[in-house]
Amino acid sequence: MFKELLGKRYDAYLDFIRQQMIKDQIEARGVKDPRVLAAMRKVCRHCFVTEDMVSRAYEDYPLPLARGQTISQPYIVALMSELARLSGTERVLEIGTGSGYQTAVLAELAAEVDTIEIFPDLAQAAAARLAGLGCSNVTYRTGDGAGGWPERAPYDAILVTCAAPEVPAALAAQLKPGGRLVVPVGSAQQELRLLTLTSSGLLQRSVCAVNFVPLLTEAR
Ligand code: SAH
Repeated sequence: MFKELLGKRYDAYLDFIRQQMIKDQIEARGVKDPRVLAAMRKVCRHCFVTEDMVSRAYEDYPLPLARGQTISQPYIVALMSELARLSGTERVLEIGTGSGYQTAVLAELAAEVDTIEIFPDLAQAAAARLAGLGCSNVTYRTGDGAGGWPERAPYDAILVTCAAPEVPAALAAQLKPGGRLVVPVGSAQQELRLLTLTSSGLLQRSVCAVNFVPLLTEAR
């Protein structure tokens, strides 16, 4: 409706409320990495939601996608991206492509992003969307991402955007020395964990409570 009424001004309005979102939801909660903030300012979240959700794209919530999945809350995307500590040279793996929004943010922050999605239709839609936005440093795979991508490992950072019952051991094993694994763990109660592979082993810390869709074992 707004689009019909406002025409081109609607795009300007969406860009404006995205900048407001960065201030009110992301900076206000303590995300400081200037590269993460710049990526969040640039990537149009409204390009990743269904048509009926465009007017809500900059609200402080996850939003529904096809297949009962969700596009993550913007703050959580920013927080996970900051925890990955990316400077631009890294190779990153994402589990749970979904809409491709987190993928697009990571593609701004790292040299290469590999992303795995269990639902083929979501993976195809995300790949088409990201290609349309000119994003060329992403490699896609369809399937269960819990085992990571051994042929392309090791990674500087791995982000999981669905909740695993336990930290997936295969993912921790695909980190480079110094690498970071950011993963929501749990079922009814979940926490976001950050694991770092140090010279004395995996260091693990709990970051905050979160609420992600579950890591699935098959696409159904
Ligand atoms: N990062 C996404 C969030 C999508 S929600 C975004 O920004 O839009 C989590 C996604 O994980 C869903 O698309 C779901 O289909 C996918 N998923 C669930 N289990 C998976 C698995 N075992 N392997 C790969 N993807 C999985």
